[in-house]
Amino acid sequence: MRAVARIINGLHPCSRTIAFAFVLICSLLASVEVAHAGCMEAPTQELRQLSELAGQDPGAVLARTARDTPASLGAMRYGWRQAARAEAFDTLSRPADARRAALRLLEDGMVLHDALRVELLTRFAINGFNKDEIDSAVALVERARRGAMRGSAADACLQIALGEMQRMRGAPERAVVYLADAYRATSDRPLNPQHIIATEKLARVVDWAGDHLQAISLIGEVIDWDQARQRKLALSTDYYFRGVFNLGRGEFQTALADFNRSRALAPAGVDPVGSAFLDLQTCSALIELRALDGARAACQRAEEAFGRYGELAQAQARLLLARISNLTGEHKKALDLLNGLLANADALSASSSAPEAYRLRSDVNQRLRRTVAAYRDLDIYVRGIERQRASEQMKQNAVLRARLDADRAAARNEELRQKLDLSATRERERAKRESILVGAAVIGLLLILTILGMSVYHRRKLTRIANTDPLTGLLNRRFVSEHERLLVSTHTKTGDSLALAIVDIDHFKAINDTYGHDGGDQVLVAFADVARGALRKDDVIARWGGEEFLVIFPRASVAEAVGALFRVKNALAAGVSTAGGVVPVKFSVGIVCCRTAERLHTLVQRADEALYRAKAGGRDRIEIAELCSLPITANDTLLLADDRRIGAAAT
Ligand code: GH3
Ligand code: MG
Ligand code: MG
Repeated sequence: MRAVARIINGLHPCSRTIAFAFVLICSLLASVEVAHAGCMEAPTQELRQLSELAGQDPGAVLARTARDTPASLGAMRYGWRQAARAEAFDTLSRPADARRAALRLLEDGMVLHDALRVELLTRFAINGFNKDEIDSAVALVERARRGAMRGSAADACLQIALGEMQRMRGAPERAVVYLADAYRATSDRPLNPQHIIATEKLARVVDWAGDHLQAISLIGEVIDWDQARQRKLALSTDYYFRGVFNLGRGEFQTALADFNRSRALAPAGVDPVGSAFLDLQTCSALIELRALDGARAACQRAEEAFGRYGELAQAQARLLLARISNLTGEHKKALDLLNGLLANADALSASSSAPEAYRLRSDVNQRLRRTVAAYRDLDIYVRGIERQRASEQMKQNAVLRARLDADRAAARNEELRQKLDLSATRERERAKRESILVGAAVIGLLLILTILGMSVYHRRKLTRIANTDPLTGLLNRRFVSEHERLLVSTHTKTGDSLALAIVDIDHFKAINDTYGHDGGDQVLVAFADVARGALRKDDVIARWGGEEFLVIFPRASVAEAVGALFRVKNALAAGVSTAGGVVPVKFSVGIVCCRTAERLHTLVQRADEALYRAKAGGRDRIEIAELCSLPITANDTLLLADDRRIGAAAT
């Protein structure tokens, strides 16, 4: 067993009444210091191995680190090696040396890496059992904890240190809060040393409070961890504790099996004081099982070893030996032992076992028929145990309460966390829903706009189709009729001059006949193109039907209109090329003008009449309707074929 074992001031015996041994067990349990692996992980493989070795072969670590100096190793390496050295002292039941090794570095003013500082602090704290030292260590650790990040490994180590110090200081109810917190905070990293150390320390406090089953379950986690890593020395300690917890439950046979396991794993001679504790507990279990010979042998070994190392636990061994003597009927021997023990009550009171010693002596005295002495002892016992039990009971209740509070706080935190999670989830879902809605709205809007755009486009297209002549692309008759106001009335009403012409291609039927219908079409298209090019921007030309075209010349005199029509004629002078050959194209025009309000249909009617006259007059000419003031001639007819007359008309 690599445990450091010490009887210290302010130990806490349990107040279970099931067995005499129980008080003893609990007091010993509280006194046993166990150093586990380093709490913080060392930064290099070499240093981690050294820390591991400190738990297995502490002597080797002490030898290796004996001549270390900061100068030869550098502050970091030196510091971690010293931490391993402190751990080795721990293993060797030399807590004072362990404590000193850690403290020296902390007080050196050396610049220490954060993790190393935490490691040294932890090591120092869990080995400090002198009240003053604990007080200053608590202050140191609490200061360090303020700088540690919540939930970090360092925070957990420092919490463990604080818990241990509270336990050593006699405040297990405060210890359990720190340890339960550290245990919980590291539960998501169950394989980390911090979690294992917290588990192990917590197991001991809850056992102290009487929750043996919980303690056994907790130490089970530690056993699994150590077993997986084949940490034999640590396992030996684990089994020792599980044995002690089983003793507390009254499972003596099971306890004995654990003690045997522990003994088998501990190399002889490494930790003689630890072995003595193992013997003491074994003795205790054997007494309960009434295997008194074995019990006596174990107790004697323990008594001797404790005596050799000046351990106060020797008194516990003697108390058990007295009990064995009482059970075997050697009352006189028991009385001598107890008298010796109670004469030096310090040793017993250190472990709070004094009342039990009085009770035992009362029993022995009764058997020896020393009634007065028996009653006196019983009286002392009753007063002592009542005091002790009252205070212990209070502390135990406080531990259980503190644990419950810690659990409640954790449950509350968990509840709060779940609520926060839930609201965050809801918020996310709401945002998601919103973005989906926004997306849908955007898509919908785009769709509507597209549909609108398309419908506008289609409407325009339909309108265009409805208003346009498909062959020539000119406006059609329908359009002109529907837009009479715009095309005609606005001008005629204001008194502006307006000319209107109806153009009819001559002998178009013959063109069709000669060049085919397609040829005819090509002529119509060519005429439209030429006319568009020859007219002014404001002039409007429409296909009036068949091979007839209507031209409106707003704000134009007849002369200007005639000029435009001559430009068309000139442009067609070379004929229109078709598949069937060049088609000579000529046309006749009836033209009308007006200055007063006149409707389209009468204008057209008058133009038609003029056109009829042009046709009748021989075609290829412009006939001007009456009521038009002509600046050029008195004659109403302009012969398009007559170049001279054309020229005159154009000017
Ligand atoms: P006129 O000199 O008296 O005007 O004689 P015309 O042959 O030009 O007149 P008519 O009214 O006798 O014939 C017009 C012809 O135009 C009849 C018709 O088949 C033809 N036509 C009407 N629309 C189209 C068309 O879109 N394409 C073609 N190729 N021919 C058409
Ligand atoms: Mg015609
Ligand atoms: Mg015609």
